[in-house]
Amino acid sequence: MAQNRRQWLAQSGLALAGLGLSGKQSWAREFDNNHDSTYRLPGNIIKLSSNENPHGPSPKARIAMAEAVTLSNRYPWDTTNALREKIATLNQLKKENVLIGAGSSEILGLVAQLAALEKGNAVAADPTFRIWWTAAERNGLEILKVPLNADKKHDLQAMLSRINKQTRLLYLCNPNNPTGTVVYSNLLKSFIEEVGSKCLVLLDEAYIEYCNEPSLCSLVSSNKKLIVAKTFSKIYGMAGARIGYALAHPELIQQLNKLQPWENAGASAVSLAGAIASLDDNDFLMKSKKLNNEAKKFTVAELSKLELPSIPSHTNFLYFSLKNYNGDYLQRMAANNIIAGRLVESVDQWYRITIGTMEEMKHFISAIQ
Ligand code: PLP
Repeated sequence: MAQNRRQWLAQSGLALAGLGLSGKQSWAREFDNNHDSTYRLPGNIIKLSSNENPHGPSPKARIAMAEAVTLSNRYPWDTTNALREKIATLNQLKKENVLIGAGSSEILGLVAQLAALEKGNAVAADPTFRIWWTAAERNGLEILKVPLNADKKHDLQAMLSRINKQTRLLYLCNPNNPTGTVVYSNLLKSFIEEVGSKCLVLLDEAYIEYCNEPSLCSLVSSNKKLIVAKTFSKIYGMAGARIGYALAHPELIQQLNKLQPWENAGASAVSLAGAIASLDDNDFLMKSKKLNNEAKKFTVAELSKLELPSIPSHTNFLYFSLKNYNGDYLQRMAANNIIAGRLVESVDQWYRITIGTMEEMKHFISAIQ
């Protein structure tokens, strides 16, 4: 595996070095034709572990990123401002509502630091996405974990009653990673309003474009306690470019800016250009969502034939139980060149698997059988 990864890195490096800008159109086209295709990591590895978009980046983003390589000797402040303006306009907000980070994980870490400036605790579901827990704990916040309900959904009432005088932050991932469940926006709006009167609310919308619920980022213009974290790593297919952003009230954005070593300076010229271009590529977004839904539907149906239950997913991953399974799952995955998701809950053996291309999911199903 290490060898395969090394070969892949070497090959991608060579490919980039040989990329002439005159050939950029055909380069983007070539990848475009491969949307439904057999494109794989070298070594024929199928990676179903990090919830990446197997079809991305978008053709428009590929061209923009290739062009931006030549501008990389300059600091990209104009492009940073252009992206902030564009995100603001798309969400009927102002540039001052937008903070750029090197992935939304930077945003989650900054918010955890901000919340921890005053000693106390943070409330979060369990299981949920927890990358920010370390930053929070290192800075002195205790994490109060609230189990999901029997349907693997957020238990909003239990989360509310877990808040106390020392609570500085409530984190809610919607849709939730790793379960793929969603809190509907009408419920979530009133929940956020209530929690916002007590502490900061960090709403992580990393997967919102995959589901049919609207983003709640417009709430930040009036709610001074809400931070919405967004990323280009998921449906936009730019996980390797490392770019994400926060939307919040300008006063909150300024507080977060102070915790960045250099405000809004974490993303590269190349990533920023790709992000701007991908916001203009709605066709790519629609196609990614459609392909994901088709591959997900197939996977759910096949798992159910094997009597392996899964939770209805609003995302590009699936939470499923191996309690009825007799084989050695991880061994079978490894033997079939599949980097599979990890065990999340040992009771009833709940695993998460990323939805890849249809071809990859067919391979996954034949491997698990
Ligand atoms: N939030 C959620 C829910 C995630 O699943 C991830 C990555 O898997 C992230 C945030 C961080 O993504 P990134 O730092 O690539 O933007």
